[in-house]
Amino acid sequence: MERLIQGFDRFRREMTDDQRELFARLASGQTPHTMFITCADSRVMPELMFSAQPGELFVYRNVGNIVPPYAQHVSGVVAAIEYAVTALKVKHIVICGHSDCGAMKALQNPAALKGKPSVEQWLKHADVARYVVAENRPTILGEEGLRYLTEENVVGQLEHLRTLPAVAAAMANGSLRIHGWIYDFARTEITAFDPLEGGFRPLGADVATAPDATPHARFSVRQTVASAA
Ligand SMILES: [Zn+2]
Repeated sequence: MERLIQGFDRFRREMTDDQRELFARLASGQTPHTMFITCADSRVMPELMFSAQPGELFVYRNVGNIVPPYAQHVSGVVAAIEYAVTALKVKHIVICGHSDCGAMKALQNPAALKGKPSVEQWLKHADVARYVVAENRPTILGEEGLRYLTEENVVGQLEHLRTLPAVAAAMANGSLRIHGWIYDFARTEITAFDPLEGGFRPLGADVATAPDATPHARFSVRQTVASAA
C-alpha cells in the first residue's frame, strides 16, 4: 500500500503544467474516441502502450477480455459498452487479447479452474474459442495452441459484441468500427484480425492499410440522406 501512496504523491509532484491544464479541461466531461476492452492482466497497460492522454481511452478490463452475448448475461462490460456507444459516442471499440493469458491457459487446461467456480462460470463465454480450436486444430497444443485459442477468443468476442443492439445499430450506420487485436509482451507487437484474410496480421503505422474487423455499414449517412430526398 505504501508503494501506491508514494506513487500518487510522485504523480502529483511531477505533473506538468500541460497535464494540469488537461485535467482541468476534463473536469466536467469526457469524449474518448475509443473503447478499449482488454484482459485484467497487470502486464497490459493500455494508456502506456498507445501513449494516450487522459480522456482518450474508455478502458474496460476483465478476465479474458470477454463480452458475453446480449441477453445471456447482464454484466458490467455490456453496460459499459452500451454507455460508451450511446452516451460517449465512441468511434471505435477494440477487443484486445494478449500473449501468456492466464484465462486462455485455463481454457487449455480446465483442471486449473478447480476451486475457482466464478472464473469457471465466466470462462463459459469463451467456450466458442475452445470449440473452434478443438474441432479445427486438435493436434496443435502448447504455445501454438495457446496462440490459436487467444486469437479465436478475440474473434468470438467480436461476434458477441455485434449481438449488442446499441453496437449493431451504430455499426449499421457506419458511426462505429470494431477491431480485434492481440498484444504480444515479449515481442512488443500487436496483431489485428483481418476478416478478409481470416487471420491476424501486424498492426503497422499505416492507418489506411490497418486491418479492420468491421463489416460494410448498410445504412451509411449518405444512403439515409438519399432515401429521404
Ligand atoms: Zn489475460
